[in-house]
Amino acid sequence: VWEYDDAPQSTEHAEVKEQYDLYIDGEFVAPEKGRYFDSVNPATEETLCSFAEATQQDIDKAVKAARNAFENEWSELEAKERGKYIFRLARLIQERAREFAILESLDGGKPIRESRDVDIPLAAAHFFYYAGWADKLEYAFPGKKAEPLGVAGQIIPWNFPMLMLAWKIAPALATGNTVVLKPAETTSLTALKFAELCRDAGLPDGVVNIVTGAGQTGSTIVNHKGIDKIAFTGSTKVGKIIKESLAGTDKKYTLELGGKGPNIIFEDAPLDQAVEGIINAIFFNQGHVCCAGSRLFVQEGIADKVIQKLRDRMETLIVGDPLDKNTDIGAVNSEQQYNKINEYLELGVNEGADMYQSSCQIPEEGYFCRPTLFTNVAQSNRIVQEEIFGPVLTVQTFRTAEEGIAKANNTPYGLAGGVWTDKGSKIFKVGSKIRNGVVWSNTYNKFDPTSPFGGFKESGEGREGGLHGLYPYVKLR
Ligand code: NAD
Repeated sequence: VWEYDDAPQSTEHAEVKEQYDLYIDGEFVAPEKGRYFDSVNPATEETLCSFAEATQQDIDKAVKAARNAFENEWSELEAKERGKYIFRLARLIQERAREFAILESLDGGKPIRESRDVDIPLAAAHFFYYAGWADKLEYAFPGKKAEPLGVAGQIIPWNFPMLMLAWKIAPALATGNTVVLKPAETTSLTALKFAELCRDAGLPDGVVNIVTGAGQTGSTIVNHKGIDKIAFTGSTKVGKIIKESLAGTDKKYTLELGGKGPNIIFEDAPLDQAVEGIINAIFFNQGHVCCAGSRLFVQEGIADKVIQKLRDRMETLIVGDPLDKNTDIGAVNSEQQYNKINEYLELGVNEGADMYQSSCQIPEEGYFCRPTLFTNVAQSNRIVQEEIFGPVLTVQTFRTAEEGIAKANNTPYGLAGGVWTDKGSKIFKVGSKIRNGVVWSNTYNKFDPTSPFGGFKESGEGREGGLHGLYPYVKLR
């Protein structure tokens, strides 16, 4: 734990090994087929380390370990004892927060300030929160007995590796399930560090298993007969494939998928606060945020003023070394994502939009993108309809609240959005009509373990976080 201004700026105290094995049944073990793949530091394009590729036999072993731990140990344990282990995990994350923050930034490219102040503290907060629920399930489900489902297969993306792990593992353990978790192939480092914490916490072997690999490994988990529940966070495209694979099985599932968040700003909004919020909404974590406010709707009378203020503020953003605590926007997570963002920039220009990019310096090496703003866009443009998952904002105008709401709702997604206005009544009227699982007002990107999170429409099914985050992990008797 460090003082607020004492951000870690070097890789000191954060050891990265050359090669990482799988974590199965309380042991680090080599993959059956002996295959490993490289993970690249996106800020330098250099290989950081290599991870094991888990194939069918490894997943079989992990599921068997998880089943054994579930039946013979974890579900038998007194709820209070389960809670103690989860508290211990939370404490250990706090104790090793500096190391986790550095590794998260090295592996994923996000600014250290963000890993330090958001990702890692929030991950710990989720473990604390769900540790508290372990022995209070009777209050969550009054008059019923909440029983665990068994073995949960959990698959997470690369944008918030440690936080997504916490969203998944904490409620699963609190409700008495055991897990087989697969981190994303570009960001598996902190999940394997977390495996070390499981050992340090004395967690019974097999309760948490971490298997690394790409889509094929994920698919093997999804289709494994020994798994009772799938918790997936990732793209809508893969979410649909998973949903299809699970049709006709009795596996429960939750899907946390993509988004194209609208921010609606009215003429009566506190403008400077709104501009700051909009900047945060789209540029936080390089725009790699499922709930990013990637579409801005400005009421006509203030459009020019808001756009100018946004441009001015974009010029002050620092893009660069993720380990420098002055950095606002770090490296894009991978070459693949970097290429995808650049293809969308080209597409936006070809679609006839006006592109404005900050003139900031960006490093020559590494995958870095300038903050970008598109005006003169049409509702049907692909840059307005599709999730870019990068630091790219589109701006449209509206006259009436009805028009703003209609435009905001006009994508296949429904994850999160924002309303900016001085009028409380407008917040409730407009907020309730935006078809999103989350609506923030006069703020953005606020997260708390007590709040459920999840999408409407193609943004997913089910909720994670808060009391609602317990539901997908229990059956009620
Ligand atoms: P992705 O769907 O490509 O991959 C997500 C995970 O699924 C990875 O671990 C990947 O290896 C695995 N995977 C890939 N193909 C698979 C398959 N066929 N079967 C099983 N697993 C498979 O997504 P991504 O690019 O890693 O992440 C970005 C996406 O995640 C964005 O769309 C973003 O909006 C979404 N996301 C959603 C939330 C939310 O809470 N709704 C949170 C974070 C990210």
